[in-house]
Amino acid sequence: MIKHNSDSFVCWFCEKNLLNNRYVIKDNFAICLFCFEEKYSNHCFQCNQIIGIEMQGSIFKDKTWHNTCFNCSICNLSLINKKFAYQNNKLYCRHCFIDEFAQRCYRCNRSLEPGDKCIQYDKNLYHKSCFICNVCQKQLINENFRYRDQYIFCLSCYMNIIAIYCIKCHKAIANDGIVYHNHPFHQECFVCTHCSIPLGNQRYIEYNNDAYCSNCSSNLFIKTTNLTTQ
Ligand SMILES: [Zn+2]
Ligand SMILES: [Zn+2]
Ligand SMILES: [Zn+2]
Ligand SMILES: [Zn+2]
Ligand SMILES: [Zn+2]
Ligand SMILES: [Zn+2]
Ligand SMILES: [Zn+2]
Repeated sequence: MIKHNSDSFVCWFCEKNLLNNRYVIKDNFAICLFCFEEKYSNHCFQCNQIIGIEMQGSIFKDKTWHNTCFNCSICNLSLINKKFAYQNNKLYCRHCFIDEFAQRCYRCNRSLEPGDKCIQYDKNLYHKSCFICNVCQKQLINENFRYRDQYIFCLSCYMNIIAIYCIKCHKAIANDGIVYHNHPFHQECFVCTHCSIPLGNQRYIEYNNDAYCSNCSSNLFIKTTNLTTQ
């Protein structure tokens, strides 16, 4: 049963005559189309206009859009029947979402797509194909490499271009060397001035800017002190 407003057939809200107008029955009340849309329709999350009952809308979570407003917030591509993402109250097509939010490769700065195999080194991520020597571009996955000033190098490029040279043997220092009085040495080249035992891993004594192992230094320089304290 339709409840008529008094005897005439008018809109429950605006009392417009409904005989020659389209109307909707809602909860047993006859309501003109205009009032119905005003009071019951959803508003488009994008343009904030009413989504009329004859318009096509899209619903996602608790929000609605005109189908014509359901577009990527960046490239404006229609997202109807497409993969999309919703973040920070905005819609994104797949491409723009990845562009905006995905992590980037440290070398090429292109995005790392979900599922991409990537390499992490020193908190930075790389495409597998980007984990290459900064000089000769050799692939360095499962290879020895050196990392310096945020770049990665294969061993030979590192040695040729970057490496520091040992002041004693004049060969490049690939691993950690020793710096003594601002001069770089290989671990094995930094030796006791007297007996030539490598000093890399042990205590040494300086005398006249030369380094001596503790044995030699006690024999050569502080014997008298030892004698007097015994
Ligand atoms: Zn009305
Ligand atoms: Zn809209
Ligand atoms: Zn887009
Ligand atoms: Zn890359
Ligand atoms: Zn290289
Ligand atoms: Zn050396
Ligand atoms: Zn010595």
